[in-house]
Amino acid sequence: MDAQPNSLEARDIHYHLHAYTNARKHQETGPVIIEKGDGIYVEDNAGNRYIEAMAGLWSVAVGFSEQRLVDAAARQFAKLPYYHSFSSKAHSPLIDLAEKLVKMAPVPMSKAFFTNSGSEANDSAMKMVWYRSNALGQPQRKKIISRKRGYHGVTIASASLTGLPANQTSFDLPIANVLHTSSPHYWREALPGESEEQFSTRLANDLEQLILAEGPETVAAFIGEPVMGAGGVIVPPAGYWEKIQAVLAKYDILLIADEVICGFGRTGNMFGSQTFNMRPDIMVMSKQISSSYQPISALMINERVFEPLADESNRIGTFGHGFTCGGHPVAAAVALENLNIIEERDLVGNARRVGAHMLKRLGELASHDLVGEVRGVGMIAAIELVGDKAAKAPWGNAGALGGLVNDLLRQNGVISRNMGDALAFCPPLIITEAQVDTLVDVVKRALDTAAVQIKG
Ligand code: PMP
Repeated sequence: MDAQPNSLEARDIHYHLHAYTNARKHQETGPVIIEKGDGIYVEDNAGNRYIEAMAGLWSVAVGFSEQRLVDAAARQFAKLPYYHSFSSKAHSPLIDLAEKLVKMAPVPMSKAFFTNSGSEANDSAMKMVWYRSNALGQPQRKKIISRKRGYHGVTIASASLTGLPANQTSFDLPIANVLHTSSPHYWREALPGESEEQFSTRLANDLEQLILAEGPETVAAFIGEPVMGAGGVIVPPAGYWEKIQAVLAKYDILLIADEVICGFGRTGNMFGSQTFNMRPDIMVMSKQISSSYQPISALMINERVFEPLADESNRIGTFGHGFTCGGHPVAAAVALENLNIIEERDLVGNARRVGAHMLKRLGELASHDLVGEVRGVGMIAAIELVGDKAAKAPWGNAGALGGLVNDLLRQNGVISRNMGDALAFCPPLIITEAQVDTLVDVVKRALDTAAVQIKG
């Protein structure tokens, strides 16, 4: 019999299937094992320290060592470590958080509903939209329009909403009733000479054509991230959300804003919906709601959604939906404290001010041979890497250069994430200008090293 593996690395390879990892390659390369964190830094088990320039998975607003969140969790564990919200039960952290969210909402919202992940929240949004259509006596109105490159999660429904091939290929997705319209990636998809406004008009027309082809009476909702994250940090072009919303209003289609990344300051306002003048009927939130110290996500729904849903639950006898740990008291207590910190320390203002500095400093790299575009808003940005600048063409296979530079960054103390050739920067909202300067210096050196390596 084989000897039992005993190093952490060997045990990881032996026992653990990784999320979002090439499982075969992982057997060769092994894991990066992160042991601890402080501020914007994390440290691995070999003692290497990294600037966590992705805030984990776009999520740790307050950094990796916020004692107030530890204390909030400990207090709640001691008082009531678990309870639920089925059958009219509640607990105070959940009520406090629901009230806080509804009062923070940038457009009138009626109720908050709690789930454990962004995927579950988007699944729940889809179910609520279907339930509502049935309540309104419009059982044919079930289609949801999402976008290519959009990211909404990995459960069967939310992976169907996601518009990225890796989430659907070989998973037999998407399911029925999900459609995908064009993505607002101006740099990559605009026609020669097309202005941002013209591009936005064309995309709104694409959407209207899709709605007409499907039959407007069959379309229930449109879902979109204010700024696309996992699709490559795609900031919508000028006029985009105004024009899209005009089409939705014309056909009485609900808007779901997936604020899972944008919510709680990332774009320089509390919500991405404010940055882009969106007026959603449903808002989906997770990640920075608790700085991901605890798993929690939430939906807010307005009266247009709540009222028919309430009627339908009355007709059936219950709203037959909910999760055992949805709105978990410890997660809710941590989320409340996290939101208080974001407000007290004006981390939204910090995202705006230091984010502007980050965009300016990253913008200086736009002239680099390997950089096709630098884009971003608030404290979220990406550098799109190219092998041939004029042709906007990748170096070798798409994603190869992104992977190479991402590895160089890690070797030099920065954790970023390449989505294909788009290298993302989404640091904790507490980052300072001096820390941004250090980060950008490392990025520049990595680009220079990559240029030497690939051009010889
Ligand atoms: N929506 C968006 C916009 C996201 O970025 C993500 C996660 N990256 C999700 C939904 C899914 O969240 P989770 O991984 O918690 O299911």
